[in-house]
Amino acid sequence: MSNVLVVLEFSDGTLKSSCLPGITCAKQIADANGGELHFLVLAADPAASAEAVASAGFGASTVHTMANPAFEPFTAEAWADGIVAAVRATNAAVVGGTASSSLRDALPRAAALLDAALTSEVTAVGAEAVLTRPISAGRALLDQASSGAVSFFTARGSEFPPAEAGGAAAAVAALPPADASTRGVTVVDVQKTQSSRPALSEAEVVVSGGRGMREGENFKMLEELTDLLGGALGASRAATDAGMVPADLQVGQTGKIVAPDLYIAVAISGAIQHLAGMKGSKTIVAVNKDEEAPIFQVADYGLVGKWEDELPKILELVKAAKAG
Ligand SMILES: Cc1cc2nc3c(=O)[nH]c(=O)nc-3n(C[C@H](O)[C@H](O)[C@H](O)COP(=O)(O)OP(=O)(O)OC[C@H]3O[C@@H](n4cnc5c(N)ncnc54)[C@H](O)[C@@H]3O)c2cc1C
Repeated sequence: MSNVLVVLEFSDGTLKSSCLPGITCAKQIADANGGELHFLVLAADPAASAEAVASAGFGASTVHTMANPAFEPFTAEAWADGIVAAVRATNAAVVGGTASSSLRDALPRAAALLDAALTSEVTAVGAEAVLTRPISAGRALLDQASSGAVSFFTARGSEFPPAEAGGAAAAVAALPPADASTRGVTVVDVQKTQSSRPALSEAEVVVSGGRGMREGENFKMLEELTDLLGGALGASRAATDAGMVPADLQVGQTGKIVAPDLYIAVAISGAIQHLAGMKGSKTIVAVNKDEEAPIFQVADYGLVGKWEDELPKILELVKAAKAG
């Protein structure tokens, strides 16, 4: 049977919502292969997390757990060992999860340890589980079939709807303990980002600024708009490289991939590498003083003008709309 094993991530014992698109992708692969959906929970003490996710169902038949103190805090090295041991114990044919920063790190290592193929950033599942992924910064799509006893995938979170809880509860099965080595890595400190805003990759509204904002101080106007709309703040790489805002706000090929309902790009030219991270957004609004800026080619609504003139007007309109 071509069972599909999804590696899950938790935050303080709660399943991360970023896992849900990866589950949907895995379910589509399992349906195309005629296999079952299985989950894997790696933790120092995975029992409570596994029970919670098992009772939520999600169409999975079994939630496998593997306990090892080396799994916390996360290191790609130890998780890769855990995933390899789980694949051997469960005979999973396909292994993957959402392309989160952790799984982008751990799954390729596990694939390499098993000498297996990996399809990264999957955007669609076709007949016979042929997986589609973008190449050349999204300029082309590649359909990839993988042979071999086991293959790996990461799913692009913006391309699959979040899996919904429901259906029969899954069984929970503890896998035998396995060695997991951090290979000398010691996590010295984890500094969590403090923000009242939604995570960039999960927000329904994203407001991003580019190099044309000139300096970090000017992002305050974008932050005001972001908070009025209940969204997340983003930026182009030129803006993060210039130190206007933190690097973790970067949207694009080498940053976060987002697909909100509304993406507002202010003073961003629309380089192909930026578009690769946001062109899946449902509605794109662009503000740019250059009417030839490429961002207008993907924008649903374009405003040609300087942000200094246009943002105050937009803020007033949003405030008025919210007031009544
Ligand atoms: C391998 C690789 C990976 C990359 N990955 C990424 C990535 O992940 N994300 C990313 O964003 N980039 C990425 N880049 C960089 C990318 O190529 C562009 O350099 C970058 O996106 C440009 O950022 P920008 O649009 O803010 O700046 P610019 O291209 O300089 O554009 C600034 C825009 O602001 C407008 N403007 C200026 N002043 C005003 C004003 N007062 N009011 C209104 N508009 C104004 C200008 O007309 C212009 O269109 C990558 C590049 C490479 C080579």
